[in-house]
Amino acid sequence: MRRVETEVCIVGGGPAGVMLGYLLARVGVDVVVLEKHGDFLRDFRGDTIHPSTLTLLGQLGLREEFLALPHNEVGTLDVVVNGTRIHAVDFGALPAPDDFLAFMPQWDFLNFLAGKAAEFPSFHLLMSTSATGVRRAGAAVTGVTATDAQGELEVVARLTVAADGRTSTVRAATGLEPRQFGVGIDVLWFSLPKPAAPPPPTLAYLGDGALVLTIDRGDHYQAGSVIPKGRFEALREAGIDAFRDSLTAAAKPLRGVAGALTDWDQVKLLSVQVSRLDTWHRPGLLCIGDAAHAMSPAFGVGVNYAIQDAVATANALAEPLLTGAVSERQLAGIQHRRLPPVRAMQALQLRLHAAIGRPPEKPVLANPPTAGQRAALNLLVPLIRAAAPRLVGRGFRPESASPLFTS
Ligand SMILES: Cc1cc2nc3c(=O)[nH]c(=O)nc-3n(C[C@H](O)[C@H](O)[C@H](O)COP(=O)(O)OP(=O)(O)OC[C@H]3O[C@@H](n4cnc5c(N)ncnc54)[C@H](O)[C@@H]3O)c2cc1C
Repeated sequence: MRRVETEVCIVGGGPAGVMLGYLLARVGVDVVVLEKHGDFLRDFRGDTIHPSTLTLLGQLGLREEFLALPHNEVGTLDVVVNGTRIHAVDFGALPAPDDFLAFMPQWDFLNFLAGKAAEFPSFHLLMSTSATGVRRAGAAVTGVTATDAQGELEVVARLTVAADGRTSTVRAATGLEPRQFGVGIDVLWFSLPKPAAPPPPTLAYLGDGALVLTIDRGDHYQAGSVIPKGRFEALREAGIDAFRDSLTAAAKPLRGVAGALTDWDQVKLLSVQVSRLDTWHRPGLLCIGDAAHAMSPAFGVGVNYAIQDAVATANALAEPLLTGAVSERQLAGIQHRRLPPVRAMQALQLRLHAAIGRPPEKPVLANPPTAGQRAALNLLVPLIRAAAPRLVGRGFRPESASPLFTS
C-alpha cells in the first residue's frame, strides 16, 4: 500500500481543516489535508465570514487580499416578526474595521486559504482523497487509511485531526459518538431574484407559521424556508404553488419574485442537526469543527466556530509539534477551551428552534402585536441590539492567532 508520512494528518478540507492546515504549515509543521471532493464547490453552505474571522485574517496579514475577492458586505440585519420589522443586529457596534459581515461563496474562501497555504512547502493538500479508517498502534491513533483514484493509501502521522464534518468517518472509526440534541426543523434552500425595490437587509421573516430567510447575495437572495423536520415530502405533495404562497404570506417583499421558483429541483433540503461529542480526543486524535459539535444554521455561526476551533488548536499545538510530542492532556486542553463557547451557542440555537417551532396558533408575536408585546419589544429590542453584534459577529470566545503566527 502507498504510504505518506507527515506530522499532522487533517481529514476534511472544510473551514476547520483548511484553516488548521494553513496555520500549522505557516510555522513549518508538515501537514497533509485530505479532502474527499475534487474541489471546494458546495452550494448552500455557510457562506458567512464573520467579523472575528476578518480580524483573524488581519492578524495573519491576509485581510486586504481576501477582501479584494468578490463579496458582499452587510452592516445591519433586520428580522420581521408578523409584519413588525425589528432592527436586530447592527455590526456597526463592533470596533472598526471589522464591523460587518462578509458574504462570500465558501469555495472562494477555501480556494483562497488553500492557495495561501500552498505557498508553504510543508502544506500538502490531497483532493479527491477519502479517509476510510484510522491506523492504530495500541490505543493510539497513528494516521488514517484512505482511497484516491489510484487505490488505497495510508497516511502515517503523529497527530490526526478529524475535521470531516458532522458525519465524520474518522470519529466513527474511533468509536466516538456524538450526543444528539433533538432538533425539530430542517431548512430548504433556494435562490430568488431580489425585488426591484429591495427592503433593508433582512435575515428572516417569521409569520403565518413560516420562517423565511433572505440572505442578500448581491444580485439575488439565498433564500431559505425553515420547515418541521421530516415535512419535505408532504410539502412536495402539496405542490410548489402552495409552497410559494406560504413563503409570500410570511415574507411579503418576495411577492414579485417568488414566481421564479417553479420546480422542486430548485430546492435543496438540508437536514439540521445539533450534536456534540462528550470527549473530543483520543491518544493521537483530535476532533474539531462540526466533527466535534454540529452547529445548526441558527445565527449562521458554524463556519466561525469551526475556524475558532482551528485557531485554538494551532495556538495550543504548534510549539509542541515543532519541538516534540503532543500529549493527550494537550488535546484535552483544546476541548476544555472550546467547549464552553460551543455549549453556550448550541444552547441558544436550541432555544431559537423552540421559539420558531411554535404552532401557528401560538405565534411568538401577534399581528399586530398586543400592547403587552409592544411593551416587551420596547424593552427587549435594545438588549438584543446590544448583544447580537457580539454574539453573531464574534461568538462567545473569539480566538486570536498567537504571536507565533503573526510575527
Ligand atoms: C443548512 C445549513 C446552513 C448553514 N448555514 C451556515 C451559515 O450561513 N453560516 C455558518 O457559519 N454556518 C452555517 N452552517 C454550518 C456550517 O456549514 C458548518 O458548521 C461548518 O461548515 C463546519 O465546518 P467544518 O470544517 O467543521 O466541516 P465541513 O464544512 O462539513 O467540512 C468537512 C469537510 O470534510 C470533507 N470530508 C468528509 N468526509 C471525509 C472523508 N472521509 N475524507 C476526506 N474528506 C472528508 C467534506 O467533503 C468537507 O469538505 C450551516 C449548516 C447547515 C446544515
